[in-house]
Amino acid sequence: MRKVAVVGCGPIGLTTACMIQEKLHNVQVIIYTENESPNTTGDISAGFWTPVYTENTPIEHVMRWSRRTLKHLIELWKSGKANETGLSLVPVLMLSEEPNFSVPEWSKIAIGYTELSPEDIQTYCVEFQKNFKGGFTYISFTWEPSIFLPYLKKKFLEKGGIVVHKRIDDINQLSHFDVIVYCTGLDAKYLLHDEKLYPVRGQLQRVSAPWLFQVIFDSECYIIPNINCVILGGTKQKNDYETIIREDDKNNIVKRCTNLEPSLKESILIKDMVGLRPCRTETRLELEILNLNEKHLPIIYNYGHGGSGVTFSYGCAWEACDLVNDALNIINAKNKSKL
Ligand SMILES: Cc1cc2nc3c(=O)[nH]c(=O)nc-3n(C[C@H](O)[C@H](O)[C@H](O)COP(=O)(O)OP(=O)(O)OC[C@H]3O[C@@H](n4cnc5c(N)ncnc54)[C@H](O)[C@@H]3O)c2cc1C
Repeated sequence: MRKVAVVGCGPIGLTTACMIQEKLHNVQVIIYTENESPNTTGDISAGFWTPVYTENTPIEHVMRWSRRTLKHLIELWKSGKANETGLSLVPVLMLSEEPNFSVPEWSKIAIGYTELSPEDIQTYCVEFQKNFKGGFTYISFTWEPSIFLPYLKKKFLEKGGIVVHKRIDDINQLSHFDVIVYCTGLDAKYLLHDEKLYPVRGQLQRVSAPWLFQVIFDSECYIIPNINCVILGGTKQKNDYETIIREDDKNNIVKRCTNLEPSLKESILIKDMVGLRPCRTETRLELEILNLNEKHLPIIYNYGHGGSGVTFSYGCAWEACDLVNDALNIINAKNKSKL
């Protein structure tokens, strides 16, 4: 039996580990992780399916990964597993004050995407007292990591997976594996010395407002209902490593979201949270074969998903699993040629 190590237990690590178990035979998967849910960046996120902060990731990758995840979410929804996996179907209203507003490329794959007419925009300008230049509506999902991560972990363990709580600082700690898959988010910056990674700080607030079901975004803030709370956001501060709640940010978030949705004055604060989006000039999903102490060691990199880690998760896990399969075939061929 071949042994695969997955480093990381956030949305990317767990979806990847479960996918390898599901699609490949005769493979033992072991996750090594420093933290797990509820202490990953994923747990802070709203789990909202929409490709954002994808930097220079080629649009064809963005579309392929997002589409595959969306397809999976539709299947989960239809199978009746929405409740146990933290999945909600949500109507979305996106409004923009950007003078150069243009329709995003991913609109082609969003469900029920409809661009707002100039009359609709004018109505929202009056309603929200803002100067919107464009906007659109569509239907999406929120897939909450704080619910689906424990669900996936349980599934992973039931299928014979192993989770080891250990920080990995050096590849030599795992050199006895056949394949290593790095799903370490922002930490790859230090672990793999990847200078293309940087944080985009996101502060948000979780409140109780059970009457809200619609996602609303404008250029300054967003309101995203989750199952047991509503998320008010947020900041996007590049290269900012501060993980302490800032009062200024908190006040701005509350003010902007309440302007947009006045009923939020009656909401009850649950908690303020902050996390660092693992942004990279380009999301990294690739296979490299290292030569370590005369052993060919395939490494798969699956990190740097920015503000779209949940949106890309299933799609990237699918392709990472194909890369694991390729890597195992390459090793088999190399071993045969030695005989
Ligand atoms: C405020 C905010 C809101 C967001 N909202 C959304 C959203 O609505 N939709 C969306 O799609 N995305 C959203 N995101 C982005 C999303 O959270 C991330 O892209 C996602 O968490 C990345 O997943 P990951 O598994 O790569 O990293 P993480 O969630 O950071 O997990 C990394 C894992 O690797 C482990 N690890 C790291 N280094 C090591 C090491 N050396 N040894 C062992 N283990 C290690 C960690 O312990 C952890 O388990 C948001 C992010 C923030 C901050």
